[in-house]
Amino acid sequence: IPRLKLVNVTKRYGSTVANDAISLEVMPGEILSVLGENGAGKSTLMKIIFGSVTPDEGEIYFDGRKVNISSPADARELGIAMVFQHFVLFETLTAKENILLGMPEGTDPKELEKEIIEKSRHYGIEVDPNAIVNDLSMGERQRVEILRALLTNPKLLILDEPTSVLSPLALQALFKTLRQLSSEGVSIIFITHKLNEIRELSKHCTVIRSGEVAANINPQEMTEQE
Ligand code: ADP
Ligand code: ADP
Repeated sequence: IPRLKLVNVTKRYGSTVANDAISLEVMPGEILSVLGENGAGKSTLMKIIFGSVTPDEGEIYFDGRKVNISSPADARELGIAMVFQHFVLFETLTAKENILLGMPEGTDPKELEKEIIEKSRHYGIEVDPNAIVNDLSMGERQRVEILRALLTNPKLLILDEPTSVLSPLALQALFKTLRQLSSEGVSIIFITHKLNEIRELSKHCTVIRSGEVAANINPQEMTEQE
């Protein structure tokens, strides 16, 4: 059974149909890419899955159960974590302090630090927990975000245009982490507007155009360079 399944999800903003009867599914451990140009409806779709936008129509199933995701807290409770394109970090705090802010109340900072170090080792995510965010590169900030997401032990990890801030080397490191998560059964939704990027990462891609699913493709079989 799919980890996540959307059926005919529709969201309108006035006369703009941002998502027009979108259906998609992602299996446990699958890396699904969602490809679309600016304005295609990717962010809206992601916000629906993360509970920050409520769809006008459609159904959402998680691990086979019909769910209402009406807030980010609902999403988190289901095991959905998100890495936003625009990072949500306090610049004057350390990586660890930022991560701690996202944790449930009563989290022990010492335990957290241990877990940060374990998780970063396990997934090859290099982060200095005591570095001030202001001193970090964009790639490093993204690693803090990813680590924060992983500390919630998600079943589904969504990344919104994660490559826009990365050097080619950092991109390879990210892909390695994502492949490892996938092999451990974590589902991944990877949002992008570049077909080239997902060619080596993902075998399943849902293409959205003008709010609609335009195609489901295997990027590894596409020869056209976009
Ligand atoms: P993408 O992420 O693919 O760039 P979006 O989901 O941001 O696409 O936007 C899809 C369409 O919905 C666009 O036409 C955009 O202008 C519109 N839209 C998105 N969010 C809002 C909003 N909060 N209010 C009005 N229109 C919106
Ligand atoms: P992204 O790079 O994620 O697609 P956008 O620049 O499209 O970001 O949108 C930034 C924010 O503005 C999003 O929260 C989106 O929902 C909102 N937004 C996009 N288009 C509109 C619009 N036409 N009217 C109001 N809000 C919008």
